[in-house]
Amino acid sequence: MGCSSEYGRAEVGDLGIVSNPVITIEQLSGWLRRFRQMVIKNQTELTQLDSAIGDADHGINMARGMTAVIEKLDGQNATHANDLFRTVAMTLVTSVGGASGPLYGTFFLRFASAAGPAIELDAESLHMALRAGLSGIVERGKAQVGEKTMVDALSPALDAMESVIKNGGDLIAAVTAARDAAVAGRDATVPMVARKGRASYLGERSAGHMDPGAASMTLLVDALATELAG
Ligand code: ADP
Ligand code: MG
Repeated sequence: MGCSSEYGRAEVGDLGIVSNPVITIEQLSGWLRRFRQMVIKNQTELTQLDSAIGDADHGINMARGMTAVIEKLDGQNATHANDLFRTVAMTLVTSVGGASGPLYGTFFLRFASAAGPAIELDAESLHMALRAGLSGIVERGKAQVGEKTMVDALSPALDAMESVIKNGGDLIAAVTAARDAAVAGRDATVPMVARKGRASYLGERSAGHMDPGAASMTLLVDALATELAG
């Protein structure tokens, strides 16, 4: 029977499945752990992408950084989003060389400030925290969409998420749409000519290769969607 939930959350059909409208602190931590696993699984591919248009270190940079992050998180009991993501940011900045360390560090630092002392985030606050992260990347790296960087995956992902939320979609629908848009944005970097970062030194020769940072950023969005939606 589709009776109302005693916890005040929507029940789906007659199966008694409760749709959860928030991401909890445990799931935020789970997101980061999944991201590390995905980076390690894709480390060789990220390195190959970066060897085509960069210096072949993006896979190792991200794997080293996220491994350091999880070791740090294991040693502390972050109870609020702010503590959790500030630790992530500081660890990435100190453990990752190259452009991606400061850029991902800025992303997580801005995410931490926007999320504040929350222990869970609803779809809107999650979207706002992610968007604050994107603004940090853009302020720091000055890349716009179309310049063949990680921004090309994150920006359309957040636009898709925003549009689902505005149309009344729930958190799971929002992160699923974000994942699809990140994948499309990542794939769209293949024909682009790089205008920012090391790949821009190649000029026209950077066309025909996927941007490694757009690929790792897509893993970050994928990890979030997987944590929430499977
Ligand atoms: P490096 O280029 O210093 O070796 P990484 O290989 O770790 O650093 O990271 C490269 C990725 O960083 C690129 O694929 C691109 O997505 C991203 N990137 C580089 N410069 C910028 C920038 N100015 N703005 C946004 N992203 C950038
Ligand atoms: Mg590199």
